[in-house]
Amino acid sequence: MAEIEGQVKDEELDPEREARRRVALAQIRQYPDAALKMVARPVEEFDDDLRRLAERMKQLMVDANGIGLAATQVGVLQRLFVFHAAEDEIVALANPEIVERSEVTRVDDEGCLSIQGVLLPVERSTTIAIAGRDETGAEVRYELEEPYSRVAQHETDHLDGVLILERTTPDARREALASLRPRIVLG
Ligand SMILES: [Zn+2]
Repeated sequence: MAEIEGQVKDEELDPEREARRRVALAQIRQYPDAALKMVARPVEEFDDDLRRLAERMKQLMVDANGIGLAATQVGVLQRLFVFHAAEDEIVALANPEIVERSEVTRVDDEGCLSIQGVLLPVERSTTIAIAGRDETGAEVRYELEEPYSRVAQHETDHLDGVLILERTTPDARREALASLRPRIVLG
């Protein structure tokens, strides 16, 4: 299986898949887009629009070679994300609440589909329980271990407008911001 780095899988893609990944990434808000800093509102209507949004996000996530994607990343300020709850299980989770988290934490490199080309060390609880609703409104709860617990914490952060830049060390943050600063091209 590909190495999982936060929200992103690191693997070589064939040219057709790589083309699809680029098209998907073009539909995902990129840092410093303002939507990424906003706090999303709870989902109230579990209607066809929400189910269509969840389906679209799952497809985008797969095409972008991600293992998680939050609605804020497609400019929709609703508390909804899609993620791999297991290797072959992709689910949508609305109004997620982390109801248990281990005191044991681990620092690992995380990538983000909205901050391309950057990997930052982030400390997360190794196991969590997360509860919420699926796209039909049914109550769900997942007990997660790494790497899926890490992804779910990353996506929950997105719904609060928190990026890995805020979760990493001051040094790593400074280095990342320097690499993200647009370069002035002469000539
Ligand atoms: Zn992300």
